[in-house]
Amino acid sequence: ALVVRHRMRSSGRWARAMAILKELEGKCATPIGKLRQVADAMTVEMLAGLASEGGSKLKMLISYVDNLPTGDETGLFYALDLGGTNFRVLRVQLGGKGGNVLKQEFEEVSIPPNLMVGSSSELFDFIAAALAKFVASEGEEFHLPVGRQRELGFTFSFPVKQTSISSGTLIKWTKGFAINGTVGEDVVAELTKAIERQDLDMRVTALVNDTIGTLAGGRYYDNDVAAAVILGTGTNAAYVEHAQAIPKWHGLLPKSGKMVINMEWGNFRSSHLPITEYDQALDAESLNPGEQIFEKLISGMYLGEIVRRVLLKMAEEAALFGDSIPPKLGVQFILRTPDMSAMHHDTSSDLRVVGTKLKDILGISNTSLKTRKLVVNVCDIIAKRGARLAAAGILGVLKKQGHDAAARDGSDMQRRVIAMDGGLYEHYTIFSSCLETTLRELLGEEAAASIVIKLASDGSGIGAALLAASHSQYLELEES
Ligand code: BGC
Ligand code: MG
Repeated sequence: ALVVRHRMRSSGRWARAMAILKELEGKCATPIGKLRQVADAMTVEMLAGLASEGGSKLKMLISYVDNLPTGDETGLFYALDLGGTNFRVLRVQLGGKGGNVLKQEFEEVSIPPNLMVGSSSELFDFIAAALAKFVASEGEEFHLPVGRQRELGFTFSFPVKQTSISSGTLIKWTKGFAINGTVGEDVVAELTKAIERQDLDMRVTALVNDTIGTLAGGRYYDNDVAAAVILGTGTNAAYVEHAQAIPKWHGLLPKSGKMVINMEWGNFRSSHLPITEYDQALDAESLNPGEQIFEKLISGMYLGEIVRRVLLKMAEEAALFGDSIPPKLGVQFILRTPDMSAMHHDTSSDLRVVGTKLKDILGISNTSLKTRKLVVNVCDIIAKRGARLAAAGILGVLKKQGHDAAARDGSDMQRRVIAMDGGLYEHYTIFSSCLETTLRELLGEEAAASIVIKLASDGSGIGAALLAASHSQYLELEES
């Protein structure tokens, strides 16, 4: 039916907006029983992904990391971290003796958006140039033994099928990257070629996902770290698995008996996930339709965009922002998650921040307090659904590791640490508090007491450098 908007009485508009909100709330509901189903489905998919190649939406990628840092690593190492809107270069001088970073420096460079959807060599040239510039600024407090090549840990935060600790092919791009011709290619070979084009003498000795880097960096400082979770632009988790529990692994059993697995949980999907029409439309119009469904419900790249879609619907069907639809509200990804977070955390009595954000970002001025409150409600529903689903994901991992039930029956109250990284978790306080509360609720107070989430901001850089060190080409030389 045709809705003649200007004749819609304001009480009718409001009722319609509230109906949309209520419907959203219902569709996004994540009662504890549902979260348990999600966690169980996660555990089941983990098993299937470990059983065979392509056995599950969860790739459960083998990282070739079978030993985590011990603290004895020594020397100068570089790391390069690519995967979000920024990339970082880092150098550290490791002092050994049980975990000793003598000196570290880093630089952060934002990636020009056109390079995220351009060509492979352009992107890698840009990165290698920044790396070369950074290496040139190396001071005297860093020491490279004479005759040695500088070595680098490459944190590449996309799904990669590793062929060794220092090589692997890109399975697909995620998070707004869409570069032609890189899928199926060895990303270390691509980077190495670009490094050579810069006349830089440097070798990549470790290729790691950011979850693996975070796990390694976390373990360096805390022995109880057995899993890592990223909640940033994208989302993912990694954990330490028994090598024997990986049927699809046909290589030699590592001496440690362990293998770190990059789950790629962003690609998890299950009929238990609360998916709305907004999520379906977002997915369909995304760069990677049908992919990364869990990620699209949880991570920083998408939360603001979901909120925008809900507000657009309220504008269209309930004239929430007046008789015409604010044009900017129709622009994809215009409402970023940091802005959503700012609105959500607005504690002023007149919701001033919400008013300002709506005006500055969406060009909607003179909003009533009632309207602003409604916007905050939408943010609350979307953020908490994401946080609660992330908690369910973590429960799934803990279950797979046998840490939940064991802890619960009191036989094993050992401290377990989850190393966490990502701007979403770090900066969106309502999100992270909700995640923690939900995890406690899921585990029960007793079991929850032994599980610690530890924020390791950009721990993946140092982690990659540590893995570069433990896979150095000079290692055997030193040991003999
Ligand atoms: C990627 C993962 C990565 C995660 C967090 C996802 O989109 O597929 O490899 O770990 O984002 O950066
Ligand atoms: Mg990162």
